[in-house]
Amino acid sequence: MSDSASRQIDVAIIGAGFAGLYMLHKCRGLGLSAHVWEAGSGVGGTWFWNRYPGARCDAESLQYSYSFVPEIEQEWRWTERYATQPEILAYIEHVADRLDLKRDVTCNTKVTAARYDDAAGLWRVSTDKGEEVTARFVIGATGALSAARIPEFKGLESYTGETYHTGTWPHHKVDFAGKRVGIIGTGSSGVQLIPMLAEEAAHLHVFQRTPAYSIPAHNRPLDDAYVQRWNSNAAEFRRKAREETRNGMLYETTTKSALEVSAEERQREYERRWAIGGGQFLYAYADLLVNPAANETAADFARAQIRSIVTDPKVAALLTPTDYGIGTKRPCVDTDYFATFNRPNVTLVDVNAAPIAEITETGIRLEDGSTYELDAIVFATGFDALTGPMLAIDVTGRSGLSLREKWAEGPRAYLGLMSNGFPNLFTVTGPGSPSVLGNVVVSIEQHVDLIGTILAHMQKAGLTWIEPEKAAEDAWVQRVNEIAAKTLMTKAKSWYMGANIPGKPRVFLAYAGGVDNYRKECDAMVADGFRGFSFAA
Ligand code: NAP
Repeated sequence: MSDSASRQIDVAIIGAGFAGLYMLHKCRGLGLSAHVWEAGSGVGGTWFWNRYPGARCDAESLQYSYSFVPEIEQEWRWTERYATQPEILAYIEHVADRLDLKRDVTCNTKVTAARYDDAAGLWRVSTDKGEEVTARFVIGATGALSAARIPEFKGLESYTGETYHTGTWPHHKVDFAGKRVGIIGTGSSGVQLIPMLAEEAAHLHVFQRTPAYSIPAHNRPLDDAYVQRWNSNAAEFRRKAREETRNGMLYETTTKSALEVSAEERQREYERRWAIGGGQFLYAYADLLVNPAANETAADFARAQIRSIVTDPKVAALLTPTDYGIGTKRPCVDTDYFATFNRPNVTLVDVNAAPIAEITETGIRLEDGSTYELDAIVFATGFDALTGPMLAIDVTGRSGLSLREKWAEGPRAYLGLMSNGFPNLFTVTGPGSPSVLGNVVVSIEQHVDLIGTILAHMQKAGLTWIEPEKAAEDAWVQRVNEIAAKTLMTKAKSWYMGANIPGKPRVFLAYAGGVDNYRKECDAMVADGFRGFSFAA
């Protein structure tokens, strides 16, 4: 890969995951000079970093992939319903090679600052390798879940055993055989990793603060006939996912309320969807995420599944979520998660009742004084979601305005795409866009296409400067909040709300109106002469 970049380019792109790579391809197609900086030693973003055993995507592989080059879609053969991390990474590598993208990617390099030069009307982008590049446009393709976070546990630095975070997993195989392992965190990453660790460790302690709802994946190999059927109709399937679904995935949906059917019918429907596996379960009824009583019917069903699997009633009770609704935090999808707690070498530790007081030289001590001696601690403690990756960069816009200051009370961006005060700076799947609430590849393609449309318009009209109007941004932020407030998702303590980071503003970070409606909003904005944006030559 290229290790140097020209000093003056049209577009500086931050991040070489799904978003950055497609953005680079798009810019090339417009005849713009573009370059990508990537912190990792290879392309792949999320799928480069999250290499923990068991890591796989819980969106179906035939849908969680690019659609912008139909030939690539046809020639790539996914092997499983839910692809593993190595398979997704191999796929991204394949696309990058196939489109010859890597020559414009500089790896092992973090963008540390991006400063808008008012006089020149250009961005000055600095990296941790001392490089400074000038670009007319900057595009943050930094990912929504890329700022891995270990909570500030007292004593962490004194621990002498091994430590890992799921989001920065080593490239070599980690050997847990014969070891006493502790894992903190039972979100999507923990739920995938825990069964794998249990297979290998001498003993596994799972430190759980909040129990997770988890739906079985029912993963399986993809047979040729199924793939063939998909491929023959791929264009139409993709169109439907883009334009006619709330979350960018072809799920069976209904307009029925959970409360308008009998308890028996509901039970049958929940059983049917549980047997299909994956996220479909939450689409059983239209009101599961807006009506607490409807949600409770689905939550109750999911709770009963836990009790039917976990043999020790006390452990089952601890694993059962009671104080938030199903789907109001990002639901987990698992293979053998709950059954893992029946193993003799697995102990569930309730760190809600007695929080972690400190990490000692040799393990973990809880506030009730109990101690756990551990050879390795795995942090499955999540990410500073959506805002973390851009705020890790020192971004300064017009008249010295810092993005950290501007977003101090929560992110503000028009369509989740651009922020007033930061001309010519775009974010792909940024806060205020649907991003994490569905198939993120669908959202990435939509944002990259939209940015492409804007850049093409500017080229054609001889414009060099774009900024969203403050009124349009204020109205969008208000709309994002209003839509979120109608859902139950604002009621749970989740990373959707910034609640996983002490001190982070509690605002809902994504547009919850659906990728279908979001696309319509964006298309209307374009059709209406790029309503809400100011341009200059
Ligand atoms: P997460 O959902 O934020 O889970 C973090 C876990 O760590 C939670 O159980 C949290 O407990 C716990 N935790 C954090 N701080 C703690 C503390 N001080 N003491 C005790 N426990 C603590 O993070 P994640 O599992 O990495 O998942 C993040 C997102 O990445 C997912 O929601 C999903 O969108 C994506 N992801 C997707 C897949 C997939 O497609 N299969 C796989 C992995 C990740 P609390 O709940 O009490 O805060």
